[in-house]
Amino acid sequence: MLEQYGLSAESRAFLETANFMWIDGEPVQAAAGQTFEAFDPASGQPIAALPAAQAEDVDRAVASARAAFDNPAWRMMRPNQRERLIHRLADLIEANAPQLAELEALNNGKGVKIARYGDVASAVNYLRYMAGWPTKLEGQTMEPSVPYMPDANLFGYTRREPVGVVGAIIPWNFPLVMAAWKLGPALAAGCTVVLKPAEETPLTALRLAQLVQEAGFPPGVVNVVTGLGDQAGAALAAHPGVNKITFTGSTEVGKLVGKAAIDNMARLSLELGGKSPVIVLPDADIKAAVRGAANAIFFNQGQVCTAGSRLYVHRSIFDQVAEGVASIADKMVLGDAFNDATQMGPLVSARQQQRVLGYIEQGLRQGAEALAGGGAAERDGYFVKPTVLSQVNDQMSVVQQEIFGPVLVADSFSDLDEVLARANGTQYGLGASLWSNDLKAVHYMIPRIQAGTVWVNTHNVLDPALPFGGYKQSGIGREMARQAVESFTETKAVLMNL
Ligand code: NAP
Ligand code: MG
Repeated sequence: MLEQYGLSAESRAFLETANFMWIDGEPVQAAAGQTFEAFDPASGQPIAALPAAQAEDVDRAVASARAAFDNPAWRMMRPNQRERLIHRLADLIEANAPQLAELEALNNGKGVKIARYGDVASAVNYLRYMAGWPTKLEGQTMEPSVPYMPDANLFGYTRREPVGVVGAIIPWNFPLVMAAWKLGPALAAGCTVVLKPAEETPLTALRLAQLVQEAGFPPGVVNVVTGLGDQAGAALAAHPGVNKITFTGSTEVGKLVGKAAIDNMARLSLELGGKSPVIVLPDADIKAAVRGAANAIFFNQGQVCTAGSRLYVHRSIFDQVAEGVASIADKMVLGDAFNDATQMGPLVSARQQQRVLGYIEQGLRQGAEALAGGGAAERDGYFVKPTVLSQVNDQMSVVQQEIFGPVLVADSFSDLDEVLARANGTQYGLGASLWSNDLKAVHYMIPRIQAGTVWVNTHNVLDPALPFGGYKQSGIGREMARQAVESFTETKAVLMNL
């Protein structure tokens, strides 16, 4: 199977040696020698066997990150030198873009062009944005007035200091981008990192570790432990040597990770699930809304935390929009990542495919109607047909739960307050999009939507300068922008009596 993908010599060479994790600047095996396999989701074939880290391996990685944090070569490095290193890393990722895109596409199932011009390009852009921050982190000065020291000459100021060793746990939907989201601000702030990629998609994190080394970061500043969530991930989340946990993944696991982190008072940011509404107002440009709604749910096979998985269309145009999206779904060409004709790839794993199919079956059983799709595609690999369900109600699990697959539920609404209440009627609050040019209606809705991001006439578009994160059970904290870098710092207050 792999032969027919036409992988480059560089990618084949990497795959032949991809049997390591990365601690203290070198490839290592798990102490107990256990391994697990990574798969090509388009065929179900194994592509690599990686070390399955246990608690003792996580200990070793955290110790390496601690030593690197205390190493003057990193601790005393000037901000402009950190800036240069992060830029060098971004340059190296760009120089290796074809290989990274191939590895990502092979391991995740996303199209190789999307991996290259979407994922790899976004990771580079994100790191370059973050490279600008080390020299801009600053504290404040103030003149204290302490009532019981009226004659003292006091001077107060604050310092931003790196929080220390960071444990970063990431999902499989955008493996390289997620690694960049964690590493960029952590390194900009001067932290050191232990990164745990998802068991499904460890490959690009390992290649990234090599590039970090090549860029000139001291050994131990970035470590990568491969392994299973309930072993390597749980050990990292609960490790007393970790000062901050940053996690992206499901709300369920996010809660476990958060509880473990709090026991050590580790700082915490959680970017969790979503069930983001796409709301089409009566004045919307119907063509744009149809295309936008289809992209919002089908991009990356729907495996996007902000996927527009609930479509609410004003009843005056519901049929046109719902049928338009269903017709796009019907025509989508499913295939592997390396076929130019492919418009939708497989889901990441057999488990994810089964999970998504389970939701579809449950929805259909409860009375939903499939306007498009409605099951697995008849072919090898973990494919699910792009699916549009109508005749749904707000209590159904397909409307309430994050499916994380190419499944859209579509319903109509009559007025703005009604659709606002329904849009806000899940436990999640990550994203939402409004499709309208009616400024008055749009401005009425934006403050009333409980979501970390609201898009207008677009969806799933992110910029490193805009903070990203969730309301309600979609998470705690913000990634991107100044907020992300500052979340990897402690604020120290200094008071001087001069
Ligand atoms: P997940 O279980 O939340 O996994 C995310 C990360 O956490 C992975 O690195 C995982 O490792 C790790 N992990 C799992 N159990 C852990 C534990 N007990 N302690 C510490 N870390 C742990 O997500 P998933 O299994 O990949 O997917 C399940 C569902 O989560 C999806 O269907 C989707 O609904 C949701 N999800 C959401 C996002 C998002 O961005 N919002 C991303 C991914 C998944 P392993 O990979 O080794 O298990
Ligand atoms: Mg998992």
